[in-house]
Formats: sequence, C-alpha cells, structure tokens
Amino acid sequence: MDEALSQLIRISNETGVDPTLVQGGGGNTSVKTSDGKYMYIKASGTALKDMNAKEGWRRLRLDLARSVVKEESIAQMEPQSRELEVVNRLLFACDDNVKIAARPSVEAHLHAWLDKCVIHLHPSAAGAYVNARNGRVRLEKLFKTEALPPLWVPYTDPGYMLARRIARLVESYRGQYGKMPGILFLEKHGLFITANSAGGALRLVRRVIKQCNSKLRQPNTGKLKAVSRELIDDVKVCIERGYSEGTGEKATIWHYYNNAIDGFCRQKDAKKMLSGSLTPDELVYSNGPAMWVQMQKGKKSRSGTAAEKCNSQSIARRLRWQIGSGRKPSVAFLVKGVGLFVAGTQRIAPTVRDIVLYSIFIRTNAVRMGGIRTLNKRQEDFISNWESEAFRKKLATGKK
Ligand SMILES: [Zn+2]
Repeated sequence: MDEALSQLIRISNETGVDPTLVQGGGGNTSVKTSDGKYMYIKASGTALKDMNAKEGWRRLRLDLARSVVKEESIAQMEPQSRELEVVNRLLFACDDNVKIAARPSVEAHLHAWLDKCVIHLHPSAAGAYVNARNGRVRLEKLFKTEALPPLWVPYTDPGYMLARRIARLVESYRGQYGKMPGILFLEKHGLFITANSAGGALRLVRRVIKQCNSKLRQPNTGKLKAVSRELIDDVKVCIERGYSEGTGEKATIWHYYNNAIDGFCRQKDAKKMLSGSLTPDELVYSNGPAMWVQMQKGKKSRSGTAAEKCNSQSIARRLRWQIGSGRKPSVAFLVKGVGLFVAGTQRIAPTVRDIVLYSIFIRTNAVRMGGIRTLNKRQEDFISNWESEAFRKKLATGKK
C-alpha cells in the first residue's frame, strides 16, 4: 500500500471511532504523497472509521484539485451550478482505480491548500467555542503560548466559498508567520488540524481537544436514576403517534438515556437552549436541534400522585408547524427524566443520537461563554439547498 494511503487510513480510523470528535459521515481527512503529485482523500458520505485500504477514499491529482479554488469563472457562478461544477471538477481530478461512484470529499480542493496531513473533525470540545458568542476570544487566551497561533475562520457556506476563504486566509497567515497554520477553528462548524506527518497530526488533535476541554463543563459520571420501562414505552408510543400525525410518515422510535442527556434536561433553561442549528451537520443529519417535549400533569391517582403524560397532539402540531414554515421536521425529542427519543431507521438513529449528545454538550458550554451562536436563516437555506449535502445524507440513511 502507498505510504500516504496507509497514513490516511490511520488518521481516519483513530479519530473516527470517537463520537465526541466526529459523528456519522461527518469530517474528512487527506494525505498528500511525498512526490507532491497526489492527494488521498476521504470519499464523500463515508464514515472515517469505516475507511480501509480498499474503499472509502479517492486519489486526486493535486494540481487539478488546487486549481479549482483559483478559478474566477467558478467563483462567478450561481451557488447551485457552482457546487455541481466543483463536484465534476473534483471527479475529473480523480486518478485512481476506484471503480464505484465514490465522490471525493466536497472539501477536497480546500485540503489541497493545506499541509501534508489534514484532519477535519466536528469535536464537541471545539464546538463549545466555535458556537459561542465569546468563543473566539476564549480560544485566543487558551492558545496564547502557541508558537503558531490557531487560525480563526469566520463562518462561510461550506463547499467552494469555504475553500476559497481558507485558501486566502492561509496565504495571509503564511505571509505573517512564514508557515502554514496547524490549527484552524471554523466558526459554527469545527476544527481543521494539519501537520507534515500522521503522528504529528494525531498528537496535535489530542493536544487541542485536551486544551479545549480543560475549561469546559463535563457531564456527571455518577449513577443514573433508573427510568421505568412502562414510562419509556408510554412516551415512545406518544412520540410515534405525534410523529406520524405531524409528518404523515411512520417511523421507528429509539430510546437513549445517559448522564449527559439527563444532566442537560435538568437545566433550568434546557428548552430555551434548543433553538437554531449549530452547524451544517446538525441541520443535515438531525434536522436541527432536538424538540423539547414537556410532560403534562395527568389526573391524580388514588395514591394522590399525579402521573405525567406526554401529549402527542402537541408534538404533531409543532411538527406540522415546522414543515409549514419550510423546515424539516425534528427527528430527536428530549423528555426530562425519561431520555432522548429518535425517530428513524436503525442505521441513522445512532448518528442522530451522537449529534444530539454533541449538540447538548456545546449548548451547555456555549451558554456560559456569552451565548449560543447558531446558523442564521440564509445560512440554513444554503445548506438545505445544497446538492452535495443531500448526497451525503442519502448515503447515511441508505435511501436510494
Ligand atoms: Zn465539516
């Protein structure tokens, strides 16, 4: 196996197994060959942990991938046709024996402008800062002793415009520091780490995450109070009904519960915190944040305790409202004292769960750093209309 390819598999598998670093098919990695001619990069829609010597990647000609970013005629195009053109150019740049229709990562042209090994992740620890009002200032303080300070990348629509912006920022960074940045924080998106070796890149990932976590609130690790099977099943039925009435579609409902979920729901402002999408991935894979489901007091039983009831009508109403206002309906539901419920296939549900866990960690911490910053309407619309994202989600859900 080519040395660059084996390095790619290593950096992808080692980071891809940790859902606090990357969820579902998100994130991407690349390694350039030592002759400077090619770049191995993750294929779009593949999970980092699933990449191996045979599949989950493409090899591109570096000069062609690089030139895509510099072409003014592409920059002038309308977003829809532009992103299609980029996909075609990147496919054209592929030079390997991969027979299946695997597309190179939609950010391949961006990787082409960075150091030899590139690891792009969506870590919850970095998310806490890049989604917080005061996150940038906090990061500057946290990394102030770094010889090469992290590069801050203001939010940019993913795809072509992001690649162009990063190429420009990296160029001026090199002008100022004489070297490429090793750490890039992307506002409302995630983290890029670049280094000239696989080991160096992995070490830098670990160091950055540890540093970010050092100032963040972590979920409790104590014993979790048990929830009765009966209550879980009641709520499951209620959400199943609400979901099918609200969306007109049947879905299997999955239940998850742990300290992070319980701790989040017990916060006073939990409901208020669940507003707006943090990142493109939260919007693509879980249709935005989880819906807060308030249990309502039912009739008092003979023993005098009022049973709490879940209201399927209210869930249906809110789902219909989301659809009516042009949004995709929620697929995750948080119920205080009961847990997280996810509507979806066996394949997509664990990804949605991981994204919710990532999201509630970020929201809890961002609130303590001046407030949560989410995607605005225009940014959300761009993602929703983006053909590449539809392609990624299709691969994740297994729908043809
Ligand atoms: Zn990303």
